[in-house]
Amino acid sequence: MTTISNALQAARTRISAAAAQCGRDPESIILLAVSKTVSPETIRIAYGVGQRAFGESYAQEALDKIAALPDLDIVWHFIGPLQSNKTKLIAENFAWAHSVERVKIAQRLSDQRPDSLPPLNLCLQVNVSGEGSKSGVAASEVAALAQAVATLPKIKLRGLMAIPEATGDSAKQHAQFRLLRELYGQLIAQGHALDTLSMGMSGDLEAAIAGGATIVRLGSAIFGERKKA
Ligand SMILES: *Cc1c(COP(=O)(O)O)cnc(C)c1O
Repeated sequence: MTTISNALQAARTRISAAAAQCGRDPESIILLAVSKTVSPETIRIAYGVGQRAFGESYAQEALDKIAALPDLDIVWHFIGPLQSNKTKLIAENFAWAHSVERVKIAQRLSDQRPDSLPPLNLCLQVNVSGEGSKSGVAASEVAALAQAVATLPKIKLRGLMAIPEATGDSAKQHAQFRLLRELYGQLIAQGHALDTLSMGMSGDLEAAIAGGATIVRLGSAIFGERKKA
């Protein structure tokens, strides 16, 4: 209990300090607790000390937890790879999906979003490192994807997300965040009403906040190291 509570407090302090460093309001940054591999009991503890937004990467695992925690007012974010055969589960059970990289997936999410729920909040995942093996849409294709997604009725396009290449080279790290922010600015200039830059994890939180992050996704900094899958 105290461990999670302390870790959450430390994470919030880290966010506030990073925001102060660059003259930003810490209230403008959402802490998303990445709870993949974490038990429902542990999620309940984090909720008990005020955490509301949780991020999950695997649809079936997430569903089991959502079913186990029906009494909690959690805002569930899907941040993992999006496969066609999982879109229905996500459309029916999540408030956000961060990892859309194809219009076909966004179309399915819109079609499968129940009318009883508000539109699904969506981020487009961008490949900011340019590595072929990384997921995300290429920077050169973001504008076209945003254009297509913005027309979908049960989707609310909120912004962009990236998982930068892990690097100890801080110049390279900053360049990846800068690229995402530039693309974000371009979309806004093209008329998209966006408010979300989902970037920054346990290891690069400060650089991400300096780069304009509005959602930071922290897993191990809150729940400890994950066992390797
Ligand atoms: C696991 C994961 C995180 C959290 O990573 P940590 O390094 O544990 O903070 C953030 N974003 C995504 C997309 C993830 O899959």
